[in-house]
Amino acid sequence: MTATALVLRPHPVDPSVDHEIQAIAAGAASGSTCSTELAAGPWSFDDAPGYGPGASMGDVIPAGAPRQGDLPRAYREAPEAELHDRIRAAKSALGDRVVVLGHFYQRDEVVQHADHVGDSFQLANAAKAHPEAEAIVFCGVHFMAETADLLSGPEQAVILPNLAAGCSMADMADIDQVEECWEQLEDVLGPLDDADADGRVPVVPVTYMNSSAAIKGFVGRHGGIVCTSSNARTVLERAFARGRRVLFFPDQHLGRNTAKAMGVPLDRMPMWNPRKALGGSTADDLRDAQVVLWHGFCSVHRRFTVGQIDRARAEHPGVRVVVHPECPTEVVDAADEAGSTDHIRRAIEAATEPTTFAIGTEVNLVRRLAALHPQHTIFCLDPVVCPCSTMYRIHPGYLAWVLEELVAGRVVNRIAVDADVAAPARIALERMLAAKPGGTVREDVREDVRA
Ligand code: SF4
Repeated sequence: MTATALVLRPHPVDPSVDHEIQAIAAGAASGSTCSTELAAGPWSFDDAPGYGPGASMGDVIPAGAPRQGDLPRAYREAPEAELHDRIRAAKSALGDRVVVLGHFYQRDEVVQHADHVGDSFQLANAAKAHPEAEAIVFCGVHFMAETADLLSGPEQAVILPNLAAGCSMADMADIDQVEECWEQLEDVLGPLDDADADGRVPVVPVTYMNSSAAIKGFVGRHGGIVCTSSNARTVLERAFARGRRVLFFPDQHLGRNTAKAMGVPLDRMPMWNPRKALGGSTADDLRDAQVVLWHGFCSVHRRFTVGQIDRARAEHPGVRVVVHPECPTEVVDAADEAGSTDHIRRAIEAATEPTTFAIGTEVNLVRRLAALHPQHTIFCLDPVVCPCSTMYRIHPGYLAWVLEELVAGRVVNRIAVDADVAAPARIALERMLAAKPGGTVREDVREDVRA
């Protein structure tokens, strides 16, 4: 897979989600936000416990999650227009020495400065495609910066402008919990790395890209593989070719939706809750399992409901409902189609007639798509403006700060994965790259998965 060109810069005259939140908070626009705190700069809530306002504000943040130190006052107090001028000037001074990457869910005020815009994997590849850059400024979240560090050169510094930009879903699978799960599964199923007479191991671990480098390293050490929301089915096919069961983490919904579409019955996908013995399942459930689903979820995509889809269909006859596979299964079932952010983008681009789209994914991406495709009617299924809390931690003030520090010869907020974790994590990523759709999965294995 190659790096993508920038395809989703915001239209300069369309109001951004940030500006709409400001207007709603000031009473100058109708509509509602999930928290009025969103109207404040992230430095106002970086020191408060929790993920901050937005979709993940109810999630439990791990005790050891990185915290961002104080952003210098000059950046906190600078007017927005000045910050944009300073970012442009710093980028111009740095030239090819820096590449700025912006995730699809990032706020427009930051995305407008990105050299590449994409999903986490596209951006990791974009980082790889710029060996000339001394620094890669990743305007996404922590696990994405780690992945960019895994795939970029050893001399390149990957920078996360705000260290508090984690991901609540990735944080739901911590390495100690996963090691403990593996040990408990061994107690039930026997040695997990030993193949049976058929050449298949009892369990293959599969982790979603949205996980820490430590989890990717664990997967790499145990013959497992990484997946994205674009290739989850291909990866699960490869995993079933190697093993009798899959342990899928951290997102239960992507795992369930993908396996269900492959024909795996729901009653053969027990949940693993790391706070319960045997994950809350019985030993028999685990022996009978085809996919063991980790109890993780994305708080952005969990907001979408069947009721929202029903309302969209009632108010917009003929509407096409497209949702992300991180949404709950009943939402995916009620939608017309489900797919990755890239799938959603392509579905809209491919529509030749004016179409009404109701989209189930993060609001910044939906608003940007609506601005880019005025021939269509495009709206977010969730009527409440509620961005990804952690992505929202990156503000132009942080971007201006890290870039001006680079101009001054200083690298701040570097994300570097330890070598002992990086080696197996890269193996798990390489296995994913080698997995091809419709590959050579034995027919008896396909039948076994469907059984
Ligand atoms: S949208 Fe969900 S999975 Fe993506 S970074 Fe935000 S919390 Fe994590």
